[in-house]
Amino acid sequence: MEDVYIGTFVGGHPALDFVNSISDSNKSREKSRIGDWDQFKLWARAANIFPEEYLKQLDTVTRPSNHSSILDGVHQLREVTYRMLSSIASGETPSKEHQAFVEAQIKTAISNGVLGHRDRLHQWTIAIDHPDWVIGTLALSIESLIRSQDFRKLRECGRCSWFFLDTGRGRGRKWCDMRKCGNRSKSQSFRDRQKS
Ligand SMILES: [Zn+2]
Repeated sequence: MEDVYIGTFVGGHPALDFVNSISDSNKSREKSRIGDWDQFKLWARAANIFPEEYLKQLDTVTRPSNHSSILDGVHQLREVTYRMLSSIASGETPSKEHQAFVEAQIKTAISNGVLGHRDRLHQWTIAIDHPDWVIGTLALSIESLIRSQDFRKLRECGRCSWFFLDTGRGRGRKWCDMRKCGNRSKSQSFRDRQKS
């Protein structure tokens, strides 16, 4: 795994790791970790979202105008999905606009896909030579997440804008990662108590 991405795959589902491909500490979603094509390729190799043979295909996209049009679509899908999931995680109904956007992306991906199977498990995949395989694969991953049983366990970190599936028992997990957010939030509230 690429060093810069160690500790960033905490979502528990590849689609959540995709939506979490951002750095912030206050839900501003200010810093993309897949902002340019090189970053996106590094991230894609470290993430568990694209089939191995597809990753090499990213190197064949050589025109900068193609990079930016793919990334524009990827970023838009990520941010609209973030808003939709953020509403769901906080128990609210997502906006119709966000839901409709994600639905349209999934429908397009399925219509571009083929239903394959391995060990009886069926899965949509987009042919490697399809021009929209990047965005389509991401949309299909989101589709598998939101229809899964585990989606009921969706939580958003109490500090940053990362999601995770709270699959543990007990009181429930509040932070994406104790080291990244939990400890900092605790020391912040300690400082706040000292001040008052
Ligand atoms: Zn966090």
